[in-house]
Amino acid sequence: MAPRNTVWVFGDQLNRKIGALAAATPQTHRILLITAADKLASRPWHPARLSLYTRAVEAFAVELRESGFDVDHRHAASMREGVAEHRAEYAPERVVVTEPNSVAARRLVSELGCDIVTSNQFLCHPSDFTTWAGTRKSFKMEDFYRWQRKRLGYLMDGAEPAGGEWNYDELNRERPPKDGHDRWPTPVDVWATTRAEALQRLEFFVTRVLPIFGPHEDAMLADNWHLAHSVLSPYLNLGLLLPGEVCDRVEQEFRAGRVPINSAEGFIRQVIGWREYVWNFYWRHMPEYGELNSLGATLDLPPLFTGTPTHMRCVSRILDDVRERGWVHHIPRLMVLGNLALIAGVNPQQFTRWMWDSFVDAAEWVMVPNVIGMSLHADGGLMASKPYAAGGAYIDRMSDYCKGCAFDRTKRVGDDACPFTTLYWDFLLRHAERFVKNPRMSTQVRAAQKLGDAEGVRHRASEVLTRLSQGTL
Ligand SMILES: Cc1cc2nc3c(=O)[nH]c(=O)nc-3n(C[C@H](O)[C@H](O)[C@H](O)COP(=O)(O)OP(=O)(O)OC[C@H]3O[C@@H](n4cnc5c(N)ncnc54)[C@H](O)[C@@H]3O)c2cc1C
Ligand code: SF4
Repeated sequence: MAPRNTVWVFGDQLNRKIGALAAATPQTHRILLITAADKLASRPWHPARLSLYTRAVEAFAVELRESGFDVDHRHAASMREGVAEHRAEYAPERVVVTEPNSVAARRLVSELGCDIVTSNQFLCHPSDFTTWAGTRKSFKMEDFYRWQRKRLGYLMDGAEPAGGEWNYDELNRERPPKDGHDRWPTPVDVWATTRAEALQRLEFFVTRVLPIFGPHEDAMLADNWHLAHSVLSPYLNLGLLLPGEVCDRVEQEFRAGRVPINSAEGFIRQVIGWREYVWNFYWRHMPEYGELNSLGATLDLPPLFTGTPTHMRCVSRILDDVRERGWVHHIPRLMVLGNLALIAGVNPQQFTRWMWDSFVDAAEWVMVPNVIGMSLHADGGLMASKPYAAGGAYIDRMSDYCKGCAFDRTKRVGDDACPFTTLYWDFLLRHAERFVKNPRMSTQVRAAQKLGDAEGVRHRASEVLTRLSQGTL
């Protein structure tokens, strides 16, 4: 007998255990997957992202067919038309969906009269987050993280955190080691498209890389694109891996004594802390959040982001990596690309759009809070209590980019002054009034106000911004 109902699965819900699919059987439900031409053509997506998305959806259709499901993988002009065509052909009694992962998709499924099932794709549903938030005045990530640790039980010894501390970040900020660039096992440099392959990547990470994940988490090296990062974000974001199973596996290795606490805790904090926090931030503050621009940043996206070469060695090498595989780790995103956009005053919406187009793991829920909140401080400090602004000295400390660069990281004025160093001081001067009372910023702002060469900094900053806009920096 033909199934009477349909489960419509979105391209970032590719897992049999997620929501509506978990309860579906080949006898009761047909599966609808839609590849929508308007979405694919809507932006200049990174080719790696397009390929990963389309191949992962195709592979999931095959996997479901092999499990006995009748799968309608429909190539349609739009999602809306795909559903209409499916209904016209199969006349399902009900079209069931798991809560989709974006505001626009949720609106669409409501408009189309679908039955909506609560999502279990994240560990903290927005309704749980609302309970946690309660009447709190502040929503610090660290407080949320500890609450998650306690209620989910990760790295807990009874009521106490394993090892005695909640957070080992202090141990995870070491400079890049001098002894060579080959100390980190190299992950497969082709994106996995099936759950089986993604699980292999997880095993590789947990057994080979995780033991050394911690200490150099913030380091960057010009000729090593991965260091000790997991490179699992695309699979988590497509649903090929679930956050709970990833953390379970990490905890297992820690309990077996094969992984030190700073590595296990550092990784679990990223997943049950930051990732879930960002997810809930999105649902709490969208859609207005995406339009915020509290620092009044108006510079158009500089052409170096879209292919014009630059002499800034750090930016140039990182953008090469972005072009090559659509992925760089957190510190290049935050402390180089985001930092440049922040201190140069790039329009937050244009920068968000560029990042969203360029990264293989991008999605609105994760890109908007990370760019608007964490990186560009465009939300006025709702997410991060201080802007992540830094000059060339920070980049030099955490990387090997500065050696061989056309600019001098120690200089803030003059033709060879490092643009990061100049723009960092200029940023502090420009926003002095706003940040001087911020306890985490006041020392730097006061130092900027005492600069003997403040006029020179302003002059050089204006030159840098002109050249940045012209694509000649
Ligand atoms: C400006 C900017 C843009 C970003 N855009 C994205 C994006 O589009 N998609 C994306 O998945 N992440 C994004 N991040 C977060 C983070 O940089 C990536 O998740 C991480 O670099 C992915 O590499 P990994 O899997 O090796 O991470 P690891 O360092 O191994 O960390 C483990 C996991 O933790 C999660 N995680 C860690 N930090 C964050 C965070 N801030 N937000 C959400 N998840 C986090 C990721 O799922 C990641 O796979 C962005 C960060 C910044 C500063
Ligand atoms: S000197 Fe400045 S521009 Fe050059 S690599 Fe270092 S931080 Fe980047």
